[in-house]
Amino acid sequence: MELLLRDTFLEVNLDNIIYNMKNIKEMVGEEVAIAAVVKANGYGHGAVGVAQELMENGADYLAVATLTEALDLRRHFSDYKIFIMGFTPDKYLEHVVKNDIIQTIFSYRQAEILNDYGNRYNKIPVVHIKYDTGFNRLGFRDSKESIDEIEKISKLPNLNVEGIFSHLALTNKEEDEKQYRKLVKVIESLEERGIKFKYKHIEDSISAVDYPEFRMNMISLGQLYMV
Ligand SMILES: *Cc1c(COP(=O)(O)O)cnc(C)c1O
Repeated sequence: MELLLRDTFLEVNLDNIIYNMKNIKEMVGEEVAIAAVVKANGYGHGAVGVAQELMENGADYLAVATLTEALDLRRHFSDYKIFIMGFTPDKYLEHVVKNDIIQTIFSYRQAEILNDYGNRYNKIPVVHIKYDTGFNRLGFRDSKESIDEIEKISKLPNLNVEGIFSHLALTNKEEDEKQYRKLVKVIESLEERGIKFKYKHIEDSISAVDYPEFRMNMISLGQLYMV
């Protein structure tokens, strides 16, 4: 087999990205927060290079998959809200707290660890709860025990449980709607217990366009602003 090694280059048109972001913001309106997903180095476009344009033109959060990506952004941007959508191992959660990163969690244990670091560093760590509504990747399993655990998390004194979210598998509309309804039901049962979330979200780029009715009040967009 022939080995193909050749120079390639990618031209990132920042004007397009700005235009897209502004359009998306206009489409969803002021009530819906936007997390600009810049994982995998901004889908290969260079996360740091596009982050500022995204944040200045409609995005409220920068979202990444890992702590490494989050810390890289934090070094460049001291004030932006940076949200890790993936899992961070226990032993690294201290860095999450010290660097004011918003972390996804789906266990009481991690909530407790973050709460304790919050105490130590005199901070209130911000977290989003991930609930698995059928994608079967990350998240609390759908069960009564999970609801109880989330309730326990919400009572930790040194933690801000800002959001709850899930991720659509995007298999077909029927399945997507089932996932959406499951998340709504979970949120309702938590609200019945007096637990309120500032942000509720389930949509990525494709679903944000296809299903305006599942938008809730936050969306996480990657590929959409890049096109
Ligand atoms: C990657 C990712 C997104 C963004 O996906 P796009 O299809 O690029 O919009 C949204 N949410 C989660 C949890 C992701 O991992």
